Amino acid sequence: MAGTVVVVGSLSQDLVVKSPRLPVRGETIRGTDFGMFVGGKGNNQALAAARAGASVSMVGRVGDDAFGTTIIDTLVRTGVDAQRVIRDPEVGSGIAIIIVGGDGDNSIVIAQQANLKFSAADVENARSLIEAADIVLLQMEVPIETNIAAARAAYRAGVPVALNPAPAPEEGSLPDELLQHLTFIVPNQTEVHQLTGIEATTRAGAMEAAKALRALGPKTVILTLGEQGALLSQEGKEAVFVESFPVRAIDTTAAGDAFCGAFGAAYANGVVLEDAVRFGCAAGALACTRLGAEPSLPQLPEIERMLADDKTANFV
Ligand code: ADP
Repeated sequence: MAGTVVVVGSLSQDLVVKSPRLPVRGETIRGTDFGMFVGGKGNNQALAAARAGASVSMVGRVGDDAFGTTIIDTLVRTGVDAQRVIRDPEVGSGIAIIIVGGDGDNSIVIAQQANLKFSAADVENARSLIEAADIVLLQMEVPIETNIAAARAAYRAGVPVALNPAPAPEEGSLPDELLQHLTFIVPNQTEVHQLTGIEATTRAGAMEAAKALRALGPKTVILTLGEQGALLSQEGKEAVFVESFPVRAIDTTAAGDAFCGAFGAAYANGVVLEDAVRFGCAAGALACTRLGAEPSLPQLPEIERMLADDKTANFV
């Protein structure tokens, strides 16, 4: 039976228009292409974990609108249990309006909408789901009290919790009530820098930053390092660098979400920690080979193929 991942987080709809260039103030210009994609870091990680072979439940809030319907339909079609995704009768679904200019430049406006109303009480209503999980995944696109409630519920039930601190908090720190209930924290180089003030661009810097982050509470730091792979830093153990998988990267959007979802799936399925990180790296690399977020999240057979080509992996 597949292990269970519960994702507590954001869901949104991305509206993407391609334009010859970004408009200046007050200007109207003709775009060329338009597409709508489901998004939100929580939603992306739930889809990534399901595609990577876990049994996944999503907990969050969308509006009672057409976007909410699309978001829930996409989860259900991917095999994710969306029973605990509340449809808010008063506030619309979270959205992002993305204008992509000719040179790949972009401008983005987001409205968090229903994600901002996703509350600790909603988490309480999903407590039995959280308590039965093999791992709970959190990000930073919902109110901090909601994350604290989820981390606390999981911690009390002995369920591991991984926080992807993205986007990094503007105040540069996370509350102790959150940090002390985390099993894993999974930042990228920008986020770890914002949380510790330490540059993680070299191996020595990455190890130092991970250690500083561990001193704040989480016993294990998994620091993603873009094309340099990831660092696994655990209390009382030697740091391990996991190499990235060489790919022709065309768009790194959602590499972190692919990593987190796939890592969560592997961990829930009983894969040992270092190999679960390697599994996440394979998923992150694959996400870089395709455009966009949701469409780029890889399927299990692709991840397995990439790992099978890698002689250092230890999968059966
Ligand atoms: P984020 O997308 O949150 O900024 P990273 O850029 O660190 O996160 O990417 C997450 C993971 O995806 C990395 O740990 C790595 O394994 C993989 N990855 C990212 N960029 C590349 C790349 N150019 N080539 C291969 N793997 C990559």
